[in-house]
Amino acid sequence: MDEEEKPVRRLSSIVLIIIVVVLALSASALYQAIDLYLKQDVASGYYLLIGFLGLAFSIYMLLQTRRRMRRFALKTTPVTTTITCQKCDFKNLREFERGDFILKEAGSCTKCDGTMLISAIYRELKEKVKEERF
Ligand SMILES: [Zn+2]
Repeated sequence: MDEEEKPVRRLSSIVLIIIVVVLALSASALYQAIDLYLKQDVASGYYLLIGFLGLAFSIYMLLQTRRRMRRFALKTTPVTTTITCQKCDFKNLREFERGDFILKEAGSCTKCDGTMLISAIYRELKEKVKEERF
């Protein structure tokens, strides 16, 4: 779990630094804009534009990062239970339910009416790693 989460955390902290820097830059640009506006300088419009673009960018980045983090959290959570028929080896996958354990009886086979037993319980990501190894 830790190996999978670390790169995401590092990435989000870099993104956070970028957002803070952009926010600081746009704040100073807005400050410049007000300063130049008071001096009746035409350049104040440019600073105002830069300031608002920076603000919009950092808000957009923040929302994007939050959405990505949520998607990642959803991706890691599901645990799959594999149910295998003892007679015909028919496999059925379903979401993990409370009380599931390996070798627990899980109803009868839809194909041959044999006994279905839970043969594996795993997180999706770990199973992918296993498949690569073998
Ligand atoms: Zn069967």
